[in-house]
Amino acid sequence: MTITETPAKANVPAGAAAAAWSHGTGAKCRFCATPLRNTFVDLGMSPLCQTHIEPHQLNHMEPFYPLHAWVCHNCFLVQLEQYVAPSDIFSDYAYFSSYSDSWVEHARRYAQMMIGRLGLTAKSKVMEIASNDGYLLQHFVQAGVGCLGIEPAANVAQAAVAKGIPTTVKFFGEKSAREIAAEHGQPDLLLGNNVLAHVPDINDFVKGMKLLLKAGGVITMEFPHLQQLMEQNQYDTIYHEHFSYLSFVAVERIFGHHGLVLFDVEELPTHGGSLRIYARHTEDVSKPVGERAMALRNRELAKGFERVETYADFEERVKETKRGLLEFLIDAKRKSKKVVGYGAPGKGNTLLNYCGIRRDFLDYTVDRSPHKQGRYTPGTHIPILHPDVIRETRPDFVLILPWNLKEEIMQQVAFIRDWGGRFVIPIPTVSVL
Ligand SMILES: [Zn+2]
Repeated sequence: MTITETPAKANVPAGAAAAAWSHGTGAKCRFCATPLRNTFVDLGMSPLCQTHIEPHQLNHMEPFYPLHAWVCHNCFLVQLEQYVAPSDIFSDYAYFSSYSDSWVEHARRYAQMMIGRLGLTAKSKVMEIASNDGYLLQHFVQAGVGCLGIEPAANVAQAAVAKGIPTTVKFFGEKSAREIAAEHGQPDLLLGNNVLAHVPDINDFVKGMKLLLKAGGVITMEFPHLQQLMEQNQYDTIYHEHFSYLSFVAVERIFGHHGLVLFDVEELPTHGGSLRIYARHTEDVSKPVGERAMALRNRELAKGFERVETYADFEERVKETKRGLLEFLIDAKRKSKKVVGYGAPGKGNTLLNYCGIRRDFLDYTVDRSPHKQGRYTPGTHIPILHPDVIRETRPDFVLILPWNLKEEIMQQVAFIRDWGGRFVIPIPTVSVL
């Protein structure tokens, strides 16, 4: 769709400096359709992050796609150009169904809070987009609140239904929103966690939410906050599955275009710093825009999130972070130190490929997921082993790839201190603990 009435706040730096980081490929903004010409960061070519290689595939070719993020100079949405069909990316979706204990606890606290805040009862209806195996809705079901999960992967939806969580198998958008409203009614609470950034057609998705939400209802969504990505150099959270990188002001503009107002927001520590936004129909004046929403908007404006120059120096900081990590690894290897990895998360794939870290630097990495053990990291072909191997091989350094879980991991693997082993955290700049 085309959007004609986006605010004209275009503000492009003039002269040679601007030309150096402005070279569009003809792609258009996925929200406002303005041709993209400002690079946010170009991470080169990278394979899809969930395509862990099996031993018999080691001699095969692997597809690599550009990992190039842009910022729209008209609406300031940071985004990837679409390089891969979403159906190719999400074919292995079932992997996302395993959640850590701390994430289930996060969901439980959220459910409890929302039941209290909205006064939800057996007569209310809660719907979750990308509800997965029902890890979150189960807390509403237990409290006797009516629920419906909306989940695109049939096998994952089946797991939810088996647990007693009503779930419909649908990819969410305008069309399915109409079908759901006709069949199941409209929700008092419509929620989606870590889905907004992964949606290829953000207009179709938000339009669907507007259609589905009951008059007087509330939407909540959680997504990683662009401010944290930029300030903490979290460039490795950029991967092909993750289409948009969201600031509060960009989301406010997109929701506003579709008749939804953000009236509250919370800042959460999850995924390196996330936002939980609260939205309502523009027509619903019973919920005034609160203090926290106004404060965050003002803070982002003060930090320049609506000036394209603000985004211009991120790429250089990313390069410097890479140089720092490689400097550390080169130095360690020159001293014949043994370095291994911990984890094989999506963000690890971006980091390893962008920095060019293969078995020349990391002997192996480990992961608790049995789906990944015995396989190899995409592109870089580092073997993924069982965590017990760390105890057997006594490495000098363990590079923690899922740095958002570093506290948890350093506790689990604290035994490396017995032989003088140390942890290495790559983000925001390399640090040895
Ligand atoms: Zn735009």
